[in-house]
Amino acid sequence: MSAAIDWDAANAEALDILVRYLQIDTTNPPGNEAKAARFLGAILEAEGIETEYIEIAPGREALIARLRGDGSKRAFMLANHTDVVPVEEAQWDVPPFGGVIENDAVYGRGAIDMKGFGTMQLVTLLALKRSGAELKRDVVYAALPDEEAGSALGMKWICENRPDVIDVEFELNEGSSGTERFAKQDTKLFTVATNEKFGGGVRLTVIGRPGHGSIPHRDNSAVRLMRALIKLDEWDRGLTFTDAGTEYLRRIADEGLLPSPDDPEALAAAITASPAVHAQFMNTLNITIVNAGIKQNVVPAKSEAYLDCRLLPGQSAEEWVDAIREVIDDDLVVVESTRTSEGFPAVPWDTELFHVIESVVKDQIEDAIVVPGLTIGGTDNRFLRERGIAAYGFMPALYTADELRGFHGNNEHIRIETLNQGCEMTYEITRRLCT
Ligand SMILES: [Zn+2]
Repeated sequence: MSAAIDWDAANAEALDILVRYLQIDTTNPPGNEAKAARFLGAILEAEGIETEYIEIAPGREALIARLRGDGSKRAFMLANHTDVVPVEEAQWDVPPFGGVIENDAVYGRGAIDMKGFGTMQLVTLLALKRSGAELKRDVVYAALPDEEAGSALGMKWICENRPDVIDVEFELNEGSSGTERFAKQDTKLFTVATNEKFGGGVRLTVIGRPGHGSIPHRDNSAVRLMRALIKLDEWDRGLTFTDAGTEYLRRIADEGLLPSPDDPEALAAAITASPAVHAQFMNTLNITIVNAGIKQNVVPAKSEAYLDCRLLPGQSAEEWVDAIREVIDDDLVVVESTRTSEGFPAVPWDTELFHVIESVVKDQIEDAIVVPGLTIGGTDNRFLRERGIAAYGFMPALYTADELRGFHGNNEHIRIETLNQGCEMTYEITRRLCT
């Protein structure tokens, strides 16, 4: 048996921790996350929880803490990143590293991404320890640097150098959450991101024939590049339905938020009408850099373009490049991959962790919809999924659209109500999964 939690006290403590955490400037670059690791670690140590500080580079420390289970089940990791993206301070109404409480919310860079969830996870360890919960699994808390700059000095490093730390069955990190809006409708939709897309970027290079601007010819590299880009922009790739994607659509359609899968035409039209939903069902391609020419009266000998591409889990980066070559169908256009990942198979969505999350959310919020989904950007979860670990992106609280705009935005804040809900749900998910 374990003692009941005094949530008024725990929530007050969470707010106090988050305010002080937001006052630590961990803007990356340069990061200086050791300050954050030591701050969080000291709170855990004061409770007698075992901690380890791993210095990945000078000033760049990871904090790993552990509550021991009886070993009958494999470990569960609560992971977060301690660095934040830079701020444009002139655009903020409050000091971004002040931890200011105003309008029943706490403001500061990282309130959403992701010191808020890092605090919910920390409070979960404190509550489990104090309640004397008997754990079947180890609960591992990982507060890691460098996520915002690609994780070479964070989760990637830990995965490559400390396999003992990531010897876990499940992990929970950022990547998705509960939201109040879906496809312009009010709802309480909790998307558990069980997978994410991976970077499959491409560079196009055209070497043409230079010459005087006064004499047009057919081998102008800029023209050949433009033609290729227009073909790619007009390329109809249709929709791709993964296992989790099919389940996502079925559950959302059941609630009347999208047309039924029995009417594929209406469903496809609704999916394509929302760019953020559409991106979950296709490999995306965005023309982001175009370079050509050196002088107005010189035909450019070389033109190049970069495409930001995000591929669905289970897709092949090589086949993607081949498909692009085929669409362009011009030998003068050289297509090369600038991919940031080899890609990896999707991890399953239908797991004990998913079902525990679903039951906790529905117990707390009766009319909540819980679905498996996809993160369309990148998170630290990818390094674990590459190793076959069911690493999910899910901050367990109902965030307003205004709060979610805080991701890399101005006046980033989290409502105290959201923080409290997140602490209780993170605790309850961890308790049910691990006891
Ligand atoms: Zn983040």
